Amino acid sequence: MNNKVKFLQQNAPCYLYEEDSIKEHCHDLLNAMPGMDFLYSAKTNPFMPVLKTVAEQGFGADTASANEVLIAQKAGIPYDKIYYSAPGKTLQDLEKVWGKCTIIADSLSELARLEQCAAVKNERIAVGVRVNPNFSMNGESAVSSKFGIDEDQLKTANLCFPHLKIIGIHVHLRSQILDADILCGYYRNCYMLAERINELNGVEIQFINFGSGIGTVYDRETEKPLALERVGQTLQTLRAKNHNGLQAKFILETGRFVVCNAGTYYTRIVDRKISCGKTYLVVQNAMNGFLRPAIAELLRQNVGEFPKNGQEPLYTTGSQSAFRIVGRNENCETVDIVGNLCTALDVMAKNITLPHAEIGDILAVSNAGSYGCTLTPLLFSNQETPKEFLWTKENE
Ligand SMILES: *Cc1c(COP(=O)(O)O)cnc(C)c1O
Repeated sequence: MNNKVKFLQQNAPCYLYEEDSIKEHCHDLLNAMPGMDFLYSAKTNPFMPVLKTVAEQGFGADTASANEVLIAQKAGIPYDKIYYSAPGKTLQDLEKVWGKCTIIADSLSELARLEQCAAVKNERIAVGVRVNPNFSMNGESAVSSKFGIDEDQLKTANLCFPHLKIIGIHVHLRSQILDADILCGYYRNCYMLAERINELNGVEIQFINFGSGIGTVYDRETEKPLALERVGQTLQTLRAKNHNGLQAKFILETGRFVVCNAGTYYTRIVDRKISCGKTYLVVQNAMNGFLRPAIAELLRQNVGEFPKNGQEPLYTTGSQSAFRIVGRNENCETVDIVGNLCTALDVMAKNITLPHAEIGDILAVSNAGSYGCTLTPLLFSNQETPKEFLWTKENE
């Protein structure tokens, strides 16, 4: 028996994140898009050893809460590579992160709050603004959003503050784009947006944060990987334009691309039963271990099929995870995989074909590295919670 199987038998239910795979994904991005500054979106998977691995590849952090700023700091990321962007930051949030990151203001009232804080401290600080631009991801017109400040509102607002200088913009409209044309068009629109915002009094653009959008393949049968080289070429063209223009730092954010398929969720089959001819495998910690498959089944149950449109970050696509029984590949049967919670919604997969499994076997669920552990209601029903591990060469 190899070390991993032994490890899983001791530690399931658990998440295992493969260090090699995380590093490889980081380098895929760095190689395809030279000259870009990458931020890892901590909310995707804030497990400290994962965060440290990504930070060691030179990535900064995109943080979505005051605590995430502190977590990024703890992972060794310097303050000038930590950006904090979220709606609804409180005064306490701002106090907690002061001097530890670049704050991206999400509203006009937040800009006023920041001015007030800086005035009290008698400091002049550089901030960014999150913009809800006059275009959507597909290049169509603006849509209303809880995120950022409408481009038109920025144009008429007073952006001259005695204690703030606005030095950058942040845009993030959608996740999980696999079509390079769409992403490239979006990046071009963002650059032009930065040029327009730079014309405003009180603004001097030094960075453009293009947000994420970089998609990863969940289902190898139906999805094609994003053509990173093509995206890289477009960014190269924009960088050339920028060289003679704004001379701004280009920032890209990424979460799932780096960690999604580097992570697998493993849980234990604790019972097998048949009801009205249907075979059930009962596992530990299904929806209270890895929520996303249960959401997919819930949607299918209500819509009749897996919806085409993602509901990020809870649901991406119907076949977003593949299931395996560790060490078994014969005598296939059709089963429902359900959890041990006292609710009928605790389902991981219905009517799927798997090799025959016995009580004690380990079920593997793929694509669990992003929006997995922290997005799951781990406390529900007072079960033991799954552990998380970074799987490195030393473990082999
Ligand atoms: C969640 C989030 C991301 C990460 O998105 P991925 O699709 O996982 O890369 C990036 N930027 C912002 C602002 C986000 O909210």
